[in-house]
Amino acid sequence: MNPGRRTLWALIALLTIPVFALCARASVRLGPIDLSINLTETPWQHVVSARLTMPVRPGPLTLYYPKWIPGEHSPAGPINELAGLEFFANGHRIPWVRDPVHLYSFHLVIPQNVHRLVIRLDYLSPVSGGSFTEGISATPHLVDFNWNEALLYPKGFPTRDLEYVPTLTIPKGWRFGTALTVASRHGSVIHFRPVPLNTLVDSPVITGSYFRQINLAPGNPVHRYLDIVADYPEALNLTRREIQDYRHLIVQESRMFHSHHYAAYHFLLTLSNHTSHFGLEHHQSSDDRTNADYFLNPEALLVGADLLPHEYTHSWNGKFRRPARLWQPNFQIPEQTGLLWVYEGLTQYWGDVMATRSEIWTPRDFREAIAMTAANMSHRPGRDWRPLQDTATAAPYLYYAPGFYATFRRSVDFYPEGELIWLEVDTKIRMLSHGTRSLNDFARLFFGMDNGSDVTRTYDMADVVRALKTVEPYHWGRFLRKRLDRVGHRAPLSGLRWGGWRLVYTAHPSPYTRAMQHLFHFQDLMFSIGFTVNAKGNVGDVLWMGPAFRAGLAPGMRIQAVDGASFKPQVLVRALVAAERSHDPLRLIVEDEGVYRT
Ligand SMILES: [Zn+2]
Repeated sequence: MNPGRRTLWALIALLTIPVFALCARASVRLGPIDLSINLTETPWQHVVSARLTMPVRPGPLTLYYPKWIPGEHSPAGPINELAGLEFFANGHRIPWVRDPVHLYSFHLVIPQNVHRLVIRLDYLSPVSGGSFTEGISATPHLVDFNWNEALLYPKGFPTRDLEYVPTLTIPKGWRFGTALTVASRHGSVIHFRPVPLNTLVDSPVITGSYFRQINLAPGNPVHRYLDIVADYPEALNLTRREIQDYRHLIVQESRMFHSHHYAAYHFLLTLSNHTSHFGLEHHQSSDDRTNADYFLNPEALLVGADLLPHEYTHSWNGKFRRPARLWQPNFQIPEQTGLLWVYEGLTQYWGDVMATRSEIWTPRDFREAIAMTAANMSHRPGRDWRPLQDTATAAPYLYYAPGFYATFRRSVDFYPEGELIWLEVDTKIRMLSHGTRSLNDFARLFFGMDNGSDVTRTYDMADVVRALKTVEPYHWGRFLRKRLDRVGHRAPLSGLRWGGWRLVYTAHPSPYTRAMQHLFHFQDLMFSIGFTVNAKGNVGDVLWMGPAFRAGLAPGMRIQAVDGASFKPQVLVRALVAAERSHDPLRLIVEDEGVYRT
């Protein structure tokens, strides 16, 4: 398409619109925007088709494709998957140009006498790779759909002031789950009630041929549902005990927070070996994706037990209450992630606590998981240069950082190390108050207001410290900043000691560690010789300055032989156990890009 030189110059001139013009526009309410999404071709062809009808005024118009997706903490809007973008006014196609600096912005000029703009676009649903919602989301049996993937919105309006009227067409005979309210349904075409744009983007849909909905709060006027789509029907077979555990989860979270912030809550659980795996929080739902055998393989549930408790906790910690600089009025303004050690670190802690209180985990499972976290954070030489605070500040990039040399680079450590810090806070409150108070009191104080409201309340560090001091007087500001800002110190393990436990390393992996190694097909030797390796001998990561690192091993190498024998994981483990009683060095033959070394 060639928009012509004259139109192009008119569009580029838009970049210099004075700020007051945008402000003036923001005070004007726009009429509802119709959004029609067709998922009938998505399971096989991986294409989502969208049609929007938007009220407009003649003159320049800038439209945005959502960039900063709440919960993903990064500018991850999948713009490379946006295709087939076309604009029509009164039946005539009108040209567009992308902003040369803000690449998620599209400029066009609405002709005179045009008051409705029709937008056609396609979202090319990924067939490989990608992380989070940008990963694989469609298989022949199911589709996970996030509305931000297939819409545009006009510049100059807070997202909560833009009203969308969504319609969804799903494959024939499929069922669906979402937190949106259905207005009417005609066969496979579902009309939802109008919602603000921020709520729409916060309300994904799962749909599939194998679908089950379980009521997790029977008899309660506030509904909570577990909606599941899966690769095959057997995957939907939860035991009565498992259903009971998730009902306990609802009860336990209510006991802790003394509030809820949704009209109804939907866990949107995808059980598939083909989609990407992650959890993404929303205010009234969560997008939870894991293995198809989650409820069939006890090891899968053991390792992934915190998935639903973590995302459900986010309805309070992250969605209802959110760090002020993480909340933005639209999806184009960068989020500042410095308080993610509260948003994610505390949720990581409570997610594990809730998995245990609801009896998905036994107390022993909890201790083994915490021990693994403590051991991992105790092997982070990167803390010599990078304070924990910086892992939160740099989160938008760290989520996508390569996995090698993670012990030196550090990763999104504000999750696991944040959990250890909140364990310290919890045990410290219990000690100082002689067991009369705990972090439960902080939960009630900080999150237990505005019952029933889903309007976000923001906070900053001073609010967190003030609330902690209200629960238990102590110099919490200093306590927390020391752990966040220091370099060259050991991992924060006092919470284990204050809780009456200590971290012990043995040659016998715990059931939790064994399950991790089975599920992810690797041998974790980080705490002995200092590397991880898969069944084929491929070295995953190497502990920075650990024994293997000093001997010259690096990520990406392949171990061919151990002490003269062909590599097998059990051969390596046997040799390591034998090396404990020997003075002879362990001899490895490794291959690196076709070159062999000993
Ligand atoms: Zn989270």
